[in-house]
Amino acid sequence: MAHTTDVIVVGLGAMGSAALYHLAQRGVRVIGFDRYAPPHALGSTHGLSRIIRESYYEHPRYVPLVQRAYELWAELERRVARRLFYQTGGLMIGAADGVLVSGALRSAREHGLEHELLSAKDVHGRFPGFVLPNEMSGFFEPRAGVLDPEGCVDAHLQLAAAAGAEVRLNEPLREWGVKGGRVRVVTELGTYDAARLALCAGAWNPALIDDDSIALRVERQVMHWFTPARTPELFEPSRCPIAMTEYAPDRIFYFVPDSGDGVKAAIHHEGEVTDPDAIRREVTDEDVAPVTSLLRRYLPNAAGPLRGSATCLYTNTSDGHFLLAPHDSHEEVLIVSACSGHGFKFASAIGEAVADLTMSLPRPDLIPFGRQRPVPGQAGRRDIVDSR
Ligand SMILES: Cc1cc2nc3c(=O)[nH]c(=O)nc-3n(C[C@H](O)[C@H](O)[C@H](O)COP(=O)(O)OP(=O)(O)OC[C@H]3O[C@@H](n4cnc5c(N)ncnc54)[C@H](O)[C@@H]3O)c2cc1C
Repeated sequence: MAHTTDVIVVGLGAMGSAALYHLAQRGVRVIGFDRYAPPHALGSTHGLSRIIRESYYEHPRYVPLVQRAYELWAELERRVARRLFYQTGGLMIGAADGVLVSGALRSAREHGLEHELLSAKDVHGRFPGFVLPNEMSGFFEPRAGVLDPEGCVDAHLQLAAAAGAEVRLNEPLREWGVKGGRVRVVTELGTYDAARLALCAGAWNPALIDDDSIALRVERQVMHWFTPARTPELFEPSRCPIAMTEYAPDRIFYFVPDSGDGVKAAIHHEGEVTDPDAIRREVTDEDVAPVTSLLRRYLPNAAGPLRGSATCLYTNTSDGHFLLAPHDSHEEVLIVSACSGHGFKFASAIGEAVADLTMSLPRPDLIPFGRQRPVPGQAGRRDIVDSR
């Protein structure tokens, strides 16, 4: 006999845990499954920090969604009585007409967001850890900062369970199907029946969704932590913002200040196409060297000994924008958010959106993240390396 419920959420990482929380808060009967026990380090939501920023260079259309996410993160913090967000301010660095600075400026102007444009010298004067070539500009936004990804997943799951959600960990979905308007899900441990299914399996979604109209590519990413070589006080979150630097046209390197584990630095995209079950987890000199060199170039005092590195996964759409859409053949099934490497900050708001959509509430603001979107221009580099 199948176990019957209203909604099933598969994958309880960033998006699934938030969806489970919002559904349970509304009194919906919901079961969430994960193949592992999130927060874990095998998907896309680990590594101690995720940047959140409001002047969204990728497109101004993300601004209302990130503003809602800020509100929901603050609410989550209050409810769980734990700090999940650290405001540091954020610097977008690069050519004035490059994707970062001009994109952030466009969002700030369209939405009336507080910001400052800084010269390379201004940036150094204000944040002495940064040493930029004269031709670079800085865009500073005060609201940016860092979220604790593992803490956020944990908080969503804890509160979802307290509100009545059934959380089933270490129970992988094997297959799903739709018959007579009902969804049937088979896991390693049982069979379940529901009105709706939200597929939030992150990098595993491409193999699960069974929808030929969607092309997703999973990309290997490596993040690194360094002990500052000198003046560590300049890299403390109270004095140092998060930063993204367009070091060559449309090529981005990002930096998170040191909250006790070292400064974090990584290249955004430029990884190899991979598979979540076959990703190369070992980190080599080839992964470390370009990041060390960028750190030496723009934050020379931060470039001390490497403390550690970790691999992670991006799930990319072809245009780098999000995808949050019903399945092409089954409207009962929602495919949640291939976030192309920039989705964590939105997870609280995406969880709320999933709850709305599975309850058939109108969300016209999400149309741009659906299947029939206008061609909005590229949000992330597409020329990732296919080494297979
Ligand atoms: C290195 C790195 C840095 C990033 N930095 C930022 C940043 O600074 N700011 C930002 O906003 N975003 C950032 N992102 C992107 C962001 O972290 C991701 O968009 C987000 O975490 C994706 O969440 P998810 O829920 O889709 O995937 P996940 O959190 O990976 O969750 C998917 C879950 O599905 C489960 N699952 C898979 N298959 C099954 C199955 N068959 N049955 C049951 N469960 C299953 C997995 O175990 C996993 O727990 C970064 C990503 C990476 C990799």
